[in-house]
Amino acid sequence: MALETPNHTQTVAGWAAYDSSGKIAPYIFKRRENGVNDVTIQVMYCGVCHTDLHHVKDDWGITMYPVVPGHEITGVITKVGSDVKNFKLGDRVGVGCLAASCLECEFCKNSQENYCDQIQFTYNGIFWDGTITYGGYSDMLVADHRYVVHVPDNLPMDAAAPLLCAGITVFSPMKDCQLLESPGKKVGIVGLGGLGHVAVKMAKAFGHQVTVISTSPSKENEAKQRLGADYFLVSTDAKQMQGGKRSLDVILDTVSAKHSLGPILELLKVNGTLVVVGAPDRPIELPSFPLIFGKRAVKGSMTGGMKETQEMMDVCGKHNITCDVELIKPDKINEALDRLARNDVRYRFVIDIAGTSKL
Ligand code: NAP
Ligand code: ZN
Repeated sequence: MALETPNHTQTVAGWAAYDSSGKIAPYIFKRRENGVNDVTIQVMYCGVCHTDLHHVKDDWGITMYPVVPGHEITGVITKVGSDVKNFKLGDRVGVGCLAASCLECEFCKNSQENYCDQIQFTYNGIFWDGTITYGGYSDMLVADHRYVVHVPDNLPMDAAAPLLCAGITVFSPMKDCQLLESPGKKVGIVGLGGLGHVAVKMAKAFGHQVTVISTSPSKENEAKQRLGADYFLVSTDAKQMQGGKRSLDVILDTVSAKHSLGPILELLKVNGTLVVVGAPDRPIELPSFPLIFGKRAVKGSMTGGMKETQEMMDVCGKHNITCDVELIKPDKINEALDRLARNDVRYRFVIDIAGTSKL
């Protein structure tokens, strides 16, 4: 891996964490020239995902410092490579978690690049040219057009930015569990954060009855009144959890910290499915009894493929689904990360990179 190659000629202003203290500071670096398959994007907004926090603090032990986080990016195209046909100058676009994949394996050929064995991410990845990828906490991005999507005209660029990770990460398992085409299911969402709050909005838009399972009683009113949830269970209240036993068809677990799946599995009907998308640094507990007594299944899901990501953006455009965001200037990133770590955000911080508030 290398920091740059000779064709890294474009100077970019960004924000990076230099070590596991987790503090973000300005960082000037170089990006590659716009290649034939690339588009250059002036970054307007970038969401602050909990995955950014995991990387900044090296929770998962894989961070290559300095790390420029950010994979919930919206912006405007300023350059288009000669082989790119589906984007033009001025297009409103989004970039999520993916920067490169092999393009040849069964998953790449089947629009499931997210499961390619050679997947490389928008930041803390190694691009095809051997350089480390830097994310959206920066004013300009060069992206291969195969990992870029269009943002529907009716969606504001700031509130749409978190759809690029939070949105697709919950949309993909919902689609996988047939929640798009079969309304009337009972769906549980564990953890009402960035991922969780979009999941509630999507599940409601797709016609399901939604139960939020949360550690924060203070979120109940908002969950029901603003986000449209039907029921709210406080996961630390054994009586409430007991009352919800065997009531749900599908549950999405978005929790960012170690916890037990046992009490959550008890909420599933017989044959129900629990999809884990949260990625705590330590193993979650998976007791066998609630699994075997209810013939329940637990599976995982990692972001989504590019075709599915465009579909998700279009579905959000159709249903007018955006994220509830707190807009911040780049000099407040550290404060935002601290608040995110304390579970104090409603429901996603978005960095106003370009300093404009309307596009
Ligand atoms: P977030 O905004 O911080 O939300 C996580 C929520 O989990 C919190 O709002 C909180 O909800 C709950 N929670 C936090 N600590 C908890 C604890 N100790 N016990 C139980 N619940 C707790 O984070 P996010 O951005 O939504 O990301 C969530 C997780 O998904 C992270 O681990 C992230 O890395 C991962 N992720 C995975 C993918 C993927 O492709 N699979 C993609 C993006 C993110 P309540 O207050 O309601 O309890
Ligand atoms: Zn993310």
